[in-house]
Amino acid sequence: MIQFLLRIIFYVFLLFLLLRVIRSLFSRPSKPRPNPSGSSPDSSAVTGRMEKDPVCGMYVDVSTALREERSGKSFFFCSEECRRRFLKSSP
Ligand SMILES: [Zn+2]
Repeated sequence: MIQFLLRIIFYVFLLFLLLRVIRSLFSRPSKPRPNPSGSSPDSSAVTGRMEKDPVCGMYVDVSTALREERSGKSFFFCSEECRRRFLKSSP
């Protein structure tokens, strides 16, 4: 009888763990982690296309980067400063 009870407790515990794992898996995408620095290019976490910033050489996400059109070509920048420098340097 005691063995039977222990088994039930064990299974309830397992079920509880499973529920926690499932819940954490589902809550992850809706809970974006705050990234205070934002300077480290984590290519594995970014879903969009990556383009090189022609000014500083950093890779930036196309969906979030600053964009500038020049002679039919699109350029992407990590910051407003890089964009301004690019506009100054090119005719
Ligand atoms: Zn830059």
